[in-house]
Order: sequence, then structure tokens, then C-alpha cells
Amino acid sequence: MTDTDQASHDAPQISPEMTVSLCKDLSITLAQFPKVRLGHLPTPLEPMDRLSEMLGGPRLWVKRDDCTGLSSGGNKTRKLEYLMADAQAKGADTIITQGATQSNHARQTTAAAAKLGMACHILLEDRTGSNDENYIMNGNVLLDRLHGASVSKRGGGMDMNAEMEALADQLIADGKTPYIIPGGGSNPIGALGYVNCARELAEQAASTGLTIDALVHATGSSGTQAGLVTGLAAIKSDIHLLGIGVRAPQAKQEQMVYDLAQRTADHLGTGLRIDRDQVRANCDYVGPGYGLPTDGMIEAVKLLAQTEGLLFDPVYSGKGLDGLIDQVRKGYFDGMDNVVFLHTGGSAALFGYADTFGLPGYQD
Ligand SMILES: *Cc1c(COP(=O)(O)O)cnc(C)c1O
Repeated sequence: MTDTDQASHDAPQISPEMTVSLCKDLSITLAQFPKVRLGHLPTPLEPMDRLSEMLGGPRLWVKRDDCTGLSSGGNKTRKLEYLMADAQAKGADTIITQGATQSNHARQTTAAAAKLGMACHILLEDRTGSNDENYIMNGNVLLDRLHGASVSKRGGGMDMNAEMEALADQLIADGKTPYIIPGGGSNPIGALGYVNCARELAEQAASTGLTIDALVHATGSSGTQAGLVTGLAAIKSDIHLLGIGVRAPQAKQEQMVYDLAQRTADHLGTGLRIDRDQVRANCDYVGPGYGLPTDGMIEAVKLLAQTEGLLFDPVYSGKGLDGLIDQVRKGYFDGMDNVVFLHTGGSAALFGYADTFGLPGYQD
């Protein structure tokens, strides 16, 4: 956890007019980068009133990046708008990427490649050792195949970047022009999607007169948080951003986010410096490891399904929610009025974890 157990919360420094003007400037900066339209944007910002009432803390909102529209949606779509445009600009005809077996990133990449008429090769790393039929064949894996991608497995702990390079060499020898997208689409190009999301959210709040005090989301390969950190810095926002880790320990996660945020800021080319204090990850909700269920995740996914009619996933957004709910209960957001949870998607993975939730059978 961060060094205090309550969020730092300064009075707003920036007027709504100033925010709108800085958002316009950021739009102009972002417009220099090639982008292909893949998502339904802007995504809705909705209150979660039953959950807020139940928890008794600040008013909780959800930013619906599960509704980006591409093959059931999710956060990778915003990154892919920039990454696929870069692939096209470089003349690629084949996309290579990697992820865990139930990777939402892989699924959205296969759909983007299909839409743009490119071939797609997916390397799936077995990070959990599960032999559950649903885990290895259903959910995202089913959709990867349905989108026509070639799907290969790799053992847990393999050097997946080296595996992608080896595959690229083979494809080049076959006369193809491959483009490698790193795991999670997390590099300075992909992170631009979340620089843009920070702007989108700030404009949405300004247009409805909402003051957002904090923004919380699941953080993994770090491109989402790095983009948000960079975008919020560019518009001088004082929204308190908190990532909930799903894999690495806190020091490693924060370093990854900080490094990528500064590289993303450099890529923007405006001379923006990232303040290390704006990078916060709470990695207390990972449990036994990446992709492995926790009781808190199971409880959080069921609670949101049954109080808000919303679907969250077992690997990322469910653990992120567990963190949000627990931190509301522990008073981390005390003194704040409005806290937004960025819903990064992933519900397709629920079908890969069908037996995790201990749900009742048919009633007589
Ligand atoms: C990839 C993913 C995340 C994490 O985003 P990163 O940019 O990899 O940190 C969160 N939620 C879901 C559902 C994801 O698929």
C-alpha cells in the first residue's frame, strides 16, 4: 500500500474552464498520431447507486470501458486503435501478440486484425497450470479462434518476447510482413489510448458538472495506468489515481507504470515530466498469483452482478473491484465525494472460469 492509508486529497487547483482548454490542447497533440477507429467512444460514465448505498462511502461511478464494442469490449481496444494504425503505417500484413491463456488483449487483437483484414498469430502462455476444459478452450480462447487467429501455446515462464521474435523471423522467411504487439499492448504507442481516455473522462465530468476525486482500476502490464498518469498530468488534473495490482508486487508494479508513463510522455513530445508521486499501486489483492481466484474477487464479482447488473472478470476487474470495495470500507476515500472505477472489461473470461463461483444449480 502507499505510505498513508488515506488518499491524499488536495483542493482543486484548476477551474473547469481551464480543464476544458487543456483537454482541447491534448486532443490536438494526440491528433498527430495515426489512429484507426475500432471502439465505441466515448464510453458511458454511470453511477453505481446500489453499491454506493450498500458500502456507505463516497458516491461510486463506473467508466464503461467494458463497452468499447470490439468483440465484447475491454481496455485493449483503445490501445489497439493506435497500435493497429502504426502496424498499417509500417505496411504490416500479419499481427503477432502474446498473453495468458484467457488473455482479453489477445481476443481484442484477433478481432482488430480481422476487422482490418490482417492475419493474426497469438501465443498463449500457460501462467496458471490449469487443465480445466473451460479455461483452456472456452471464453477468450474460443473467441480467438472464432476471429480466425492462429493460436499456439507456450509453457509458463517462457521468454514470450523471444518467442514472438522467433515467430516473426519465420513469417518474414515466408514472405510476410509481421508486426509485433507487446503483451497487453503496453508500450508508448498503445498507452496513447489511455492518455486519450483521461481526456475523455475529464471532458465528460466537466460537461456534467461532476467533480471526480479518485479513479481506480486494475493494473497489469501497466499501459492503462501509464496512459492515465500521463493524460492526467497533461491536463494538470488532481484526480487521485490508484491502480489495483493483479500480478507483480507493489514496488515492481509502480516502477513499470512510472517508466512507461515517462516514455509515453516523451512519445507525446510536449516535454511533460511525470511525477513519481502520481504513480500508486495497491498490490494487496493479487492473492496466490496472476489469474488465480481469490475469495475477495469471487465476492466482488457476485456482488456487482447482483447489485448493479454488471459483469466483471476473475483475473483483472474482479480483483480491482475487490480492492476498491475493501479500500472504501477501510476509509481510504474518506472525505471524497465521487470515486470512479474504470471498468476495463474481461467478462468473456468468466466462461473460462465457470466453476469458480460455486453457483447453485436449477431449482426443482
Ligand atoms: C489487460 C487488462 C487490464 C490491465 O490493463 P494493463 O494495461 O495491462 O495494465 C485490466 N483489466 C482487464 C479486463 C484487462 O484485460
